[in-house]
Amino acid sequence: MSSDERVLIAGGGPVGLLCAWLLGRHGIPVRLFDENERPRDDPRAATTHPATLDLLDADGLADDMARVGLVCPIFQFWDRPSGELIAQFDHAVLKDDTRHPFVVQCEQFKTAKLILQRLRKLANVEVLFGHEVIDVAQAANSVTVDVRGPDGVAKHRGAYMIGADGGRSTVRKQSGIAFEGFTWPERFIVLTTPFDFEASRGYCPRSYFADPEEWCNCFKVSADGPPGLWRTVFPTDPAKSEEELMSDAAVQARLQKFFPSAQAFEVVHRNLYVTHQRVAETFRKGRVLLAGDAAHVNNPIGGMGLNGGIQDAANVSEKLARILLNGEPDRLLDFYDVARRTVAVEFVQEQTIANKKRLEAKDPAARRQNLDELREIAADPARARQFLLRTSMIVSQRRAAAMELEDA
Ligand SMILES: Cc1cc2nc3c(=O)[nH]c(=O)nc-3n(C[C@H](O)[C@H](O)[C@H](O)COP(=O)(O)OP(=O)(O)OC[C@H]3O[C@@H](n4cnc5c(N)ncnc54)[C@H](O)[C@@H]3O)c2cc1C
Repeated sequence: MSSDERVLIAGGGPVGLLCAWLLGRHGIPVRLFDENERPRDDPRAATTHPATLDLLDADGLADDMARVGLVCPIFQFWDRPSGELIAQFDHAVLKDDTRHPFVVQCEQFKTAKLILQRLRKLANVEVLFGHEVIDVAQAANSVTVDVRGPDGVAKHRGAYMIGADGGRSTVRKQSGIAFEGFTWPERFIVLTTPFDFEASRGYCPRSYFADPEEWCNCFKVSADGPPGLWRTVFPTDPAKSEEELMSDAAVQARLQKFFPSAQAFEVVHRNLYVTHQRVAETFRKGRVLLAGDAAHVNNPIGGMGLNGGIQDAANVSEKLARILLNGEPDRLLDFYDVARRTVAVEFVQEQTIANKKRLEAKDPAARRQNLDELREIAADPARARQFLLRTSMIVSQRRAAAMELEDA
């Protein structure tokens, strides 16, 4: 294959790296650029859902993620003001729907590292850290990018370009693709502590707390090994500055208010995130494809952002391989756009907004109705299965596959 068949990728986050691996495994030449000097120790995503794990079976990747992460079959909903456990869901009811009836809590930097290890074995894949994509131009049969590296700006040519360069995507902006949606006024704060919420409070490693004043998500990650770390996610007051929100006193007060404890909490990380709900107006413009956060962003309740990005990566890589290796028509990429964009809008955006509204509901009647509904669903195995098929993203994967069959 010549450079005319090369796929260029902007972004060495988990989505860009996965695209590089899935294409590179077929022998397709790939050149990936990431502006950072080295892979990031990114603490954001951890939850990897069954539908996504099913896509990561090749070369034991899903097994390796489970080995370095935590296998979590159960999640819980709690009512914070009353302290009541409202509902508990066990992914075991999905045993006939997925090869992975559980989620794996694997921090995204670990997933990226596992993919990088595999990429290093592929001579046809170049991973260039310290290289920032600054411009993209297309011709009839090629795409050219300007990349700023250690020796200045150089042009690189390929057959296709995947923009996996995150929410602020240069590829998306330079391609003139709008990013429609909105930004939540409140930022989300993530406080990470070794405090063992399971041993001391009985919370399982994925616990959601509804509270009309201040909801919370509480998750366990394996970190550097036992006993692991717990990440707590809260909304913050839009009127408060970063300094006010992140001070030691404010962080302790927030944790103590939610999880009263005789001792101060040890806090090993604190991060503040601006949170958006946005989807690119198209995931394909000629020879430029968008994937991951470059194509869609959402709030993290339900853990769907990176999962959607991995599903994009699997879908777009499979189509590019068919085009480049088998000479199939490149209108396959329109199916990528239609299928993946539709589930991003109709499923991930809708579900993550609904997840947030359920946890933050203030009206007592609405709160009662939400919690009663959760109790009833959890108590009915058929409804619990339907509920989990949605939360574990199996429904959206099936919907995307069905749309492609209709279009083909
Ligand atoms: C608090 C929090 C918790 C989350 N939890 C979950 C979860 O549990 N499950 C889940 O599925 N999702 C979760 N997410 C979402 C998840 O973190 C993102 O969806 C994920 O990081 C997207 O991966 P990506 O590879 O598309 O983009 P990124 O991880 O943002 O990677 C983009 C890469 O592109 C590089 N880059 C940017 N611009 C350029 C350029 N011009 N040239 C070259 N390189 C460039 C960057 O350096 C970066 O390495 C969470 C998010 C937050 C904020």
